[in-house]
Amino acid sequence: MLKESELKEIGIHEYGVISTAEIPFEEEIQKICEDNVCRLYGKTWACPPAVGTVHACRKRCLHYAEAMVFNAVYSLEDAFDYAGMIKGHDAFKDLCDRLYTLAKTQRHDFLILSNEGCRRCKTCTYPSAPCRKPERLFPSLEGFGIHVGKLAASANIKYTNGENTVTYFGMLRY
Ligand code: SF4
Repeated sequence: MLKESELKEIGIHEYGVISTAEIPFEEEIQKICEDNVCRLYGKTWACPPAVGTVHACRKRCLHYAEAMVFNAVYSLEDAFDYAGMIKGHDAFKDLCDRLYTLAKTQRHDFLILSNEGCRRCKTCTYPSAPCRKPERLFPSLEGFGIHVGKLAASANIKYTNGENTVTYFGMLRY
């Protein structure tokens, strides 16, 4: 298991460990992706429909016994600061990169999921060619049909962190 000091050092705000059985998969959550609020539905390999059905995503997760749910908090100018949200999201994906590097020192087989889709490349290869960085894809929690609010509650970590902030979530499966 990764040490708390290592997790804090890479920028994780809070984390909690839960069992696979506690992950709240719901068909309805993946359907919400189709409303395309994050503007990435059907645009990357990290989102539906590319990730497959909720049943397939759940099966992929069941391969692992435990889950470490984690979050990080980023400042916004106000509640409508969309540019700030994108900046925070990019910073969170960088955090996931650091977690990947850390986890790789201890495990061969693990999976990191994270809020929303992937903006790593200027232009995504989806759907015409394979992902350029499949090992660092960090697919969407919501795209997998996971209810993030309930996931945070299961792991006993806060879903929101005060006015003019955005909190992003991820999950390390191992
Ligand atoms: S890493 Fe690049 S090619 Fe792969 S899903 Fe993300 S944007 Fe698309």
